[in-house]
Amino acid sequence: MSASLVVNEIYLSLQGESTFAGLPCIFVRLTACNLRCSYCDTAYAFTEGKRRSFEEIQAEVTKLAANYHAQVSGHRLPLIEFTGGEPLLQPAAAALMKLFCDDGFTVLVETSGAHDISVLDPRVRRIMDLKSPSSGEVARNRWENLRHLRPTDEVKFVLGTREDYAWAKGILAEHRLAELCPLLLSWVAPLLPHQQDKSLKAVPAGQTPIGRQELVNAIIADRLPVRFQLQMHKFIWPPDERGV
Ligand code: SF4
Repeated sequence: MSASLVVNEIYLSLQGESTFAGLPCIFVRLTACNLRCSYCDTAYAFTEGKRRSFEEIQAEVTKLAANYHAQVSGHRLPLIEFTGGEPLLQPAAAALMKLFCDDGFTVLVETSGAHDISVLDPRVRRIMDLKSPSSGEVARNRWENLRHLRPTDEVKFVLGTREDYAWAKGILAEHRLAELCPLLLSWVAPLLPHQQDKSLKAVPAGQTPIGRQELVNAIIADRLPVRFQLQMHKFIWPPDERGV
C-alpha cells in the first residue's frame, strides 16, 4: 500500500505567524492532536479528516502552487507548511516533508513541542511551541528538543496570562534561547463560544489574563530579544474562518 496521511484540509493562503508571516503558503493540516491546549482554535482537526495518499497530496499541492515563479529571500513560493492538529503524530509526515524539500520547496512545520523534532529532514524549518502554564499542557514540553534547535528553527510561546509571561521570561533566560534561533511571542486570541471544544483543558486557577498591550509593554520594558506577533489571518478574515 502506498504511503498516506490523514488530512484535515489543504489550502493556499498567507503564512500568518512566524518570521515568514505574510508570504503565500500552502497549508497541509493533518488530523489529530494528543494535547488539548486551553486556547486551541483548531479543535475541528482533532478528529475530522480523510486518509489521502502521498500522490493525492502532492497533486493538490502542485495544483495550488501552479503559476508561482518567484522566490523571496531564496525561498521558493509558495511555502508549504505542515500543521494540525499535531503533524508529528503521524510518522509518515516526515517522509512527505522530505519529498517536498527534494522538490525545492521551503517546508515549515508547526509542532506543539511535545514530540521529537530530530526525526525531521534538516531542511525542514521547525516552528516549535513551548507550551506555557495557561495552556494546561506545560507538563508536555519535551525539553530534549531544545538541544536539536538550529538557527533556521523558531520557538513560539503563546501567552495568555501574567503568569505565562513571567514563565516565558524565565525560560528564555535559563536556556539562553535567543542564542539558538528566532523567538516568537504570541498573544492568546480569545476563542469564540463555538470554538470552545469541551475537551480543551481549563486555564489553571489563580492566573491573571494579560492584554495585548500589557504584554507588548512588558516585552519592551524587559528588553526581551523576541518578535511579538499576532495571528495575521485573524485580522484579515473572520477569526473563526477555516481554510485561511
Ligand atoms: S498542540 Fe494545542 S493548540 Fe496545537 S492543535 Fe494541539 S491542542 Fe490545538
